[in-house]
Amino acid sequence: MHQPDLTPQRSSYFSYQIHPFVSPPEMRGERNQHPVVVVGAGPNGLLVALDLARNGARPIVIEAEAQVCGGSRAVAFTRRTLEIFEQVGASDALLKGALLWEKGRSFYRGHMVHELQVPGSVDDRFAPMTNQPQNVMEKVLLDQAERMGIEVRWQTKVVELASDASGVRLRLDTPEGEYDLSCDWLVACDGARSAIRRLQNLRFEGRSYTGRFAIIDFRVPLGAPTGRRCYFDPPWLPGYAVLLHKAPYGIWRLDYQVPDDVSDEEALEPARLRSHVQAHLDYIGADLPWEIEWVTLYKPNTLSLARYNHGRVLYCGDAAHLLPVFGVRGVNTGVQDGNNLSWKLASVIRGFASPAILDSYTDERLADAKQICFEAARSTRMMTPPSRGFRILRDAVLQLSVHHDFTRPLLHWRTSKPIDYADSALTTVDPSEAKFEAGPRPGAPARNVCINPDAPSRGWLFDAFGPGFQVLVFGDAQSVTPALADDLKALRADNIPVRLILIRRSEDTRVPASVDAVMDDPLGRVHAAWGATQGAVYVLRPDQHVAARWCAGAPTRVAQVVNKALCRAASQAKAQRQPAEAVV
Ligand SMILES: Cc1cc2nc3c(=O)[nH]c(=O)nc-3n(C[C@H](O)[C@H](O)[C@H](O)COP(=O)(O)OP(=O)(O)OC[C@H]3O[C@@H](n4cnc5c(N)ncnc54)[C@H](O)[C@@H]3O)c2cc1C
Repeated sequence: MHQPDLTPQRSSYFSYQIHPFVSPPEMRGERNQHPVVVVGAGPNGLLVALDLARNGARPIVIEAEAQVCGGSRAVAFTRRTLEIFEQVGASDALLKGALLWEKGRSFYRGHMVHELQVPGSVDDRFAPMTNQPQNVMEKVLLDQAERMGIEVRWQTKVVELASDASGVRLRLDTPEGEYDLSCDWLVACDGARSAIRRLQNLRFEGRSYTGRFAIIDFRVPLGAPTGRRCYFDPPWLPGYAVLLHKAPYGIWRLDYQVPDDVSDEEALEPARLRSHVQAHLDYIGADLPWEIEWVTLYKPNTLSLARYNHGRVLYCGDAAHLLPVFGVRGVNTGVQDGNNLSWKLASVIRGFASPAILDSYTDERLADAKQICFEAARSTRMMTPPSRGFRILRDAVLQLSVHHDFTRPLLHWRTSKPIDYADSALTTVDPSEAKFEAGPRPGAPARNVCINPDAPSRGWLFDAFGPGFQVLVFGDAQSVTPALADDLKALRADNIPVRLILIRRSEDTRVPASVDAVMDDPLGRVHAAWGATQGAVYVLRPDQHVAARWCAGAPTRVAQVVNKALCRAASQAKAQRQPAEAVV
């Protein structure tokens, strides 16, 4: 019988809650067929569950443990992650107590050799980077899942799996014994050691690095600004790189490579850990009291499954790929996976997308994982040169960077960034594309715009967005052409969630019946940022990537674009369609 650890984890800033096991209907002999089950209540599993619910599917979540994660895990989240959290209603809560930052600095023997400024502008609602510990993030997502009525089955471990073309059957082990559960679709978010991956006999491809890193989270009243600091060749660890990072709640994180001749046990010896923290504080001239909170040892990997959709089972987050933490890739990449997958799977479950759309989940996200692995490998080689040759090269770059600018870009720390799905089979490029001089291109994520930076309540473009496809029409009532209105009518008749948003920059206050929301753009800031004149039209997918755009005067084909993005033949039988279960 599965017996998870029921002792609450200890933390100076976070109260761990033990979530009880609740006997499910299946243990009382009820047979339920669930449309979709998510395995794992880590950040990715919870995000997927929220996003599936937002898109009209009703997931349940299975979690082996009784509490959210402990130990030193993710702490730095990108703007795109915050934008995705905003979509599922969790960004405000994540920002409570968070630290925001935009700069990273690298030092070599006391000299600053590189300063990274993550770009930001007045149009960004969120900072380039937001620091919040992963346990707090998971609690934020859990609270939102509770508000949305999503069932999380705690203390329930997947131990067996069988899947075929019609669905998936799971054997679940709990503190009160085992039971079986059936579902149409399964999303595996069960982390790096995924049991689902093992039960399906799937293996990662790629490489694991030999270097090991120790992460020490410690409490210290150090007043330095938030941001990532990288110290190459500090006197207490000659030849190696050390990262220092400020987390909320008075915690700082020291992250350093463990020398090859030090065993795991030696690396974790309390006296050694303490001496390293003290040595680094001495090095940066901080004579302050401090106390260790958590310690973790990890190895960087660039590993991925060859495909993320395997019949009725879909992989997401660490279950699908393992990426080095340099460049904050783990959660930030997994959240984009989840955002990509959820609307597609919900559309299949609701009957208006062909299951073929799930191939595009692999195609789009695997392209991202490959790019990340390529970039992360470069950052990893800079942090941990894999050979004598690399080390000589790295040290030469560092030495030159003390006095010369030209080598400094080589120290650039590549961070997680949103990918463009320009080459995706779901993206349409209209011939009028060439006439756009600005704005997100087909496949790119939507770009937020502050409506009036000087107004007390500034308002952002994304405030007008909701679940489903968004059709953005720039101009006034006349910009909503009869052809466009007919396309919307046809899509809506097929229960496809399509919202028409009029981005208005005119005195004409008439609003056609087909419009769901109006966003006034008195200063024309949205028009300018999106390269749009009166009559321009954009179609956004439910994950806010551009499916297509037309400049003013070009004939729009909204229904065709949406059908293509859903891999749906226009004639798909109405009999397959079902109403939404829980669109929020
Ligand atoms: C030291 C460190 C620092 C990091 N820093 C960052 C950072 O700054 N930014 C960033 O983006 N990422 C960072 N990461 C990576 C990040 O922590 C992971 O990418 C993230 O936890 C992956 O989330 P997940 O939901 O995919 O998996 P997990 O968080 O591992 O969650 C998987 C869940 O599945 C459950 N589970 C497992 N097996 C079963 C089963 N058989 N049945 C039911 N449930 C099961 C587990 O209990 C767990 O709750 C860091 C990681 C480490 C180790």
